[in-house]
Amino acid sequence: MHSRRDFLQKVSLGLGAAALSAFPAIANELTSNRQDKQLRVAIMGLGGYANIVAKGMQECKMAKIVGVISGTPSKIETWKKQYDIPDKNTYNYETVSQIKNNPDIDLVYVITPNSLHHKHVLQIAAAGKHVICEKPVADNAKQAREMIAACEKANVKFYIGYRLHFEPHTLELIRMREAGEFGKIMHVNNYAGFKIGDPTQWRLKKSLAGGGAMMDVGVYSLNGARYCTGEEPIWVTAQESKTDPVKFKEVDETITFQLGFPSGIIANCGCTYNFNHVEGLKLMGEKGWAEVNPAFGYGPIRGTTHKGKLEAPDVNHQANQMDGIADCILNNKPDPNVTGHEGLKDMVVIDAVYESIRKNGAKIFINK
Ligand code: NAD
Repeated sequence: MHSRRDFLQKVSLGLGAAALSAFPAIANELTSNRQDKQLRVAIMGLGGYANIVAKGMQECKMAKIVGVISGTPSKIETWKKQYDIPDKNTYNYETVSQIKNNPDIDLVYVITPNSLHHKHVLQIAAAGKHVICEKPVADNAKQAREMIAACEKANVKFYIGYRLHFEPHTLELIRMREAGEFGKIMHVNNYAGFKIGDPTQWRLKKSLAGGGAMMDVGVYSLNGARYCTGEEPIWVTAQESKTDPVKFKEVDETITFQLGFPSGIIANCGCTYNFNHVEGLKLMGEKGWAEVNPAFGYGPIRGTTHKGKLEAPDVNHQANQMDGIADCILNNKPDPNVTGHEGLKDMVVIDAVYESIRKNGAKIFINK
């Protein structure tokens, strides 16, 4: 049986695809100018991806796991032993607001089901802690705007787990595009997906997932189209195909969508929850091209351009992401394209994708 983890691991194998909420400014002071230069992270939601993040973080130089938030006591016990977490840094979903009184936690990484991100990020911001939230940022752009506003009000940093923005092959592709090596970008064609397994999982429930393939993996096609062009879409058209209306009763199964950019080019993108071996990013420019496949999994990412192999080191995505974010926070460096605002840009397009589908493929113009 294929699963989401299969998708990410298969593509990785190349087989296919402040402390005090009343004084939130203290959070930033605590994490910058610190002598030990290690970001102290608590993970919220101890499921599949949290375990991958935690494993990756064992390679981190600038971030370490010091706490957990979970509704399952047995998981807390396992994580305490595995990552040497003291009792005082463990919380459940009812006690999580007390984290504001814990000066030993700088940041909370929210890795819960999509539709809980909004509530959880608001809780963490209210506790005066920096926050990373997994993709998709929220169920819709309205929620994403509320999350950004809450973090800004609390003076805490807000990031999205866009690990590819720390991944060397992806960064090399962006560098080449910015250096003009592809010339004017003329077309982009991205696809992401896998055949989802267990029909009872939260990913197939609208109340926990917000949507289906588009929310989960469509965001890779979309975010990829944005970093392939360096432009923001101004209109969207989208179509959904549903071949299994029983399994995909509540959420989308397969979506194709087109993004129109200010320069006039169109990106053709897609995502699915119902077939395998769909993975890849294609960029076509006036002077050159790139084809990346696997493009979105945990690595190694592999690609070819008109110049030959897309050369870049293979890294652990999660470790690189966490060290990269820690470096920004601890050393006051500029944030890469992984902020809450970046999550919002994707969410605005996702809202438009769903609106277009509701309106039988109508062209939806994106308001700035
Ligand atoms: P998962 O089901 O494996 O884990 C979800 C965790 O949330 C579980 O520990 C579960 O107990 C907990 N949880 C808390 N409240 C819950 C509730 N009401 N219902 C169900 N579970 C609840 O899922 P996952 O694969 O770890 O995904 C979690 C998030 O991480 C999602 O937003 C997903 O999009 C994201 N993710 C990102 C990547 C990436 O590469 N960036 C990869 C996988 C998942």
